[in-house]
Amino acid sequence: MPDSRYDAIVVGARCAGSPTAMLLARKGHKVLMVDRAKFPSDTVSTHLIHPPGVASLKRWGLLDRVVATGCPPISTYTMNLGPIILKGSPGTKEAPASYGPRRTVLDKILLDAAAEAGVEVREEFTVENLVFDGDRVSGIRGHGKNGASVTESARVVIGADGLNSLVAKDVGAEAYHEKPRLQAGYYSYWSNLPVEGGFEAYDRAERGWAAWGTNDGLTLLVVSWPIAEFEANRNDVEKHYLASLDRAPEFAERVRAAKREERYVGMAVPNHFRKPFGPGWALVGDAGYNKDFITAQGISDAFRDAEQCADALDQVFKGTSTHEAAMGAFQSARDQHALPMYGFTCDFASFTPPTPEKRQLMGAIHGNQEAMDGFMRMFAGVDSPADFFSDANIGKIMSSASR
Ligand SMILES: Cc1cc2nc3c(=O)[nH]c(=O)nc-3n(C[C@H](O)[C@H](O)[C@H](O)COP(=O)(O)OP(=O)(O)OC[C@H]3O[C@@H](n4cnc5c(N)ncnc54)[C@H](O)[C@@H]3O)c2cc1C
Repeated sequence: MPDSRYDAIVVGARCAGSPTAMLLARKGHKVLMVDRAKFPSDTVSTHLIHPPGVASLKRWGLLDRVVATGCPPISTYTMNLGPIILKGSPGTKEAPASYGPRRTVLDKILLDAAAEAGVEVREEFTVENLVFDGDRVSGIRGHGKNGASVTESARVVIGADGLNSLVAKDVGAEAYHEKPRLQAGYYSYWSNLPVEGGFEAYDRAERGWAAWGTNDGLTLLVVSWPIAEFEANRNDVEKHYLASLDRAPEFAERVRAAKREERYVGMAVPNHFRKPFGPGWALVGDAGYNKDFITAQGISDAFRDAEQCADALDQVFKGTSTHEAAMGAFQSARDQHALPMYGFTCDFASFTPPTPEKRQLMGAIHGNQEAMDGFMRMFAGVDSPADFFSDANIGKIMSSASR
């Protein structure tokens, strides 16, 4: 392997990139991280961080910084399904609350932590293409703002460059479990919009929405509809956003009394996994696994990837494992963990009407606090949908409802 200036170059400096770079640098590796954006800056994303993501922030010593920005803790999720309302806690002992910090706030905290760990950070640096040595990735070519092209080399280039990853495209990363876009979601920020328990979600026929508190006393409200309505509704988002809320008149009333402070932003995303490694390259976050945002898993998943990919590459750099073996184990663990939630998320985003069995199950969960907490922990990605919807757990819930 030719001499490389860096152990790792990380392309992308948000939820996946900054923690990956930070954790590698904390393990003593030489890391360059680049992003075409300048920080702090926003990106198209709502930003509920469920307890697993909060636990990562805590382990990294960064939760206090997030809390200090004044974004409120969310200890209860309330889900209004029309005929019934489920209310429970998604929290764990380690992370009893979720948080919804603005991406301007969160991403800057992550980037600063990477720089503090010793990562060389280049903002406003756009990667144009990867550099190859045979079929092995050996570096990047890119340019700073108004600058000439430069080439940098590394033992591994990590694509943390999001859904439309250039790294994934240049290496031809194989995609699998692909599903098309399923729903479109639009959000904005409101003042004077109180939210019960910190997080409220509503599920209605072909509509869903959720609201939670964020920085500066604002409430984020995101509204979703099926992808079949995407084209028809995109020319008057406000009309369809507000009309959706009329399906829950009390909530619509609250929104009418509130004030919208920012423009509407939204999108629809495809669903897929990508093979996250090959000779001289790796993928983390959305670059390697993208799913609909309706269950708000992306940030926690990006954090999980960062920890597991950094551990795997640490073994490679120390010579205790090969790239193929360590990153193969990373891929298996990622997919095994993600697949049940991927199925639940795609199903939820499809707006398919609940089956009679599902309706019966929701009715049985209602009022059973242990089951409602379990449902919220599953929705938050704390417990696997495979366990929550197991025959044993459903049997337990149904039998306590019939007592
Ligand atoms: C509408 C919407 C709502 C969402 N809501 C939630 C939610 O509530 N909770 C949740 O957990 N997740 C949510 N997600 C998902 C979440 O936003 C993503 O999972 C998360 O941002 C992934 O982080 P990332 O670092 O992988 O990618 P990104 O955040 O996309 O960051 C990629 C970075 O790479 C940089 N980059 C890309 N190409 C290049 C290049 N060629 N050169 C240099 N830099 C480059 C970009 O500038 C960017 O800064 C939502 C997503 C959407 C679209």
